[in-house]
Amino acid sequence: MKHHDLLAGLVRLHVLHHAIEHEIYGQWMIDELAHHGYRLSPGTLYPMLHSMERKGYLISREESQGSTRRRFYRATDLGREGLAVAKRQLRELAGEAMKNEIGTSSICISSKGDKESEQ
Ligand SMILES: [Zn+2]
Repeated sequence: MKHHDLLAGLVRLHVLHHAIEHEIYGQWMIDELAHHGYRLSPGTLYPMLHSMERKGYLISREESQGSTRRRFYRATDLGREGLAVAKRQLRELAGEAMKNEIGTSSICISSKGDKESEQ
């Protein structure tokens, strides 16, 4: 993943977000992250899940289906708390760092109904 260090925190928050809603497993999470534009290999995601479990944000159980074993993760109370704190900070960052982008998009939306606009 390009810019790994910068984006790793966002990926972890994304994992927590889904692990709060339902149980997740590695391959599902890789596919989900791909929809959001993150390209992670199992070699990147699995150690991330393991370390989040070690730190108490996730808890896992293993389920064997025939010959295959799959590890399912869900968020702990600490994980919920961590995501809540991070969301406040994300809102703060979005408010500041994306002020211009947000301003631009609202101009676009309001100009759609404007007959004078060049669009
Ligand atoms: Zn998602």
